[in-house]
Amino acid sequence: MDKKISIKKNEKLNRSYVDMHLHSRSSDGSLSEEDLVNIVVKNGLKGVSLTNHDTLLGQSKFIELASKKDIKVITGIEISSVYKNYAVHILGYGVNLFSESLLNEHLKPTWETLNDSAMVVVRRVKKLGIGIFEGANNIKKVRKLINSHSPVVSFNSLFHFIHSKTNLPVSHLWNLVFKSRSDFWRLMVKPEMLSPVEAVGLVKKMGGKSVLAHPGTICLRGNTTEFDENIVSDIISLLLENGLNGIEVYYPRHTKKQMELYQSIVKKYNLIVTAGSDFHGSYTPKLSVGAPPGLDFEDFLRLKDFCES
Ligand SMILES: [Zn+2]
Ligand SMILES: [Zn+2]
Repeated sequence: MDKKISIKKNEKLNRSYVDMHLHSRSSDGSLSEEDLVNIVVKNGLKGVSLTNHDTLLGQSKFIELASKKDIKVITGIEISSVYKNYAVHILGYGVNLFSESLLNEHLKPTWETLNDSAMVVVRRVKKLGIGIFEGANNIKKVRKLINSHSPVVSFNSLFHFIHSKTNLPVSHLWNLVFKSRSDFWRLMVKPEMLSPVEAVGLVKKMGGKSVLAHPGTICLRGNTTEFDENIVSDIISLLLENGLNGIEVYYPRHTKKQMELYQSIVKKYNLIVTAGSDFHGSYTPKLSVGAPPGLDFEDFLRLKDFCES
């Protein structure tokens, strides 16, 4: 009966009752863990993962709040890495929360280099004559000023802070601050970051299972606007040789063709399939909590067992 209702609702909403890719303000989302759990409840989800960028901050709180609402959680993280100037995100599931110091040690260079990029943005905003960062001449002061809860001051939080003070549209600010798309990516993708192979290794060390996040967006996130499937298949081949466990097949920006392609790779190499929305609260206004259809709650429970084994 319950299942029947779920399927009906699911079809109507066109999304799953699970979501394995959510961000809170402990990385670059707009919502606290509490508000995020409230939306998860409101949307009727049964299984979720919080996958903050490069940090386990927020996990314990999220698990505690979700458990109280009888929602199943798989611990998660999304690690930033770089392959030939392309941003490659590696999701880690079932990671041990006691491995936080190990993670932080490995990701300190990533945090530092991304915070340097945040300071570049702050200096550019000052140069534009927008006087809201006066006196905030280091990352500590910027973090305090914008009330950041993350080890990395994200561009999202900076732009939304400026928007809240000036009312300038975020898209307009983006165009004012970045000269071009590649200018933006030069600040976001740094050689100091881990390689995807190192990120996969780190997830393993943390006791979790590694998943290549949204492969269909990798090229679009690089220094090119052309989609180059060869780069993606190079990355997948490299990671398969190095212990990758799965691929995020169901993702809002993946086309049907891409999902079919990744599904065939998953089948061929016996990998796990995950599904996520990449919801960042009000910073991703087009997205809602709940992954695109493809993974049901029973699949989620099987994944939970596997990732925690
Ligand atoms: Zn990502
Ligand atoms: Zn994400």
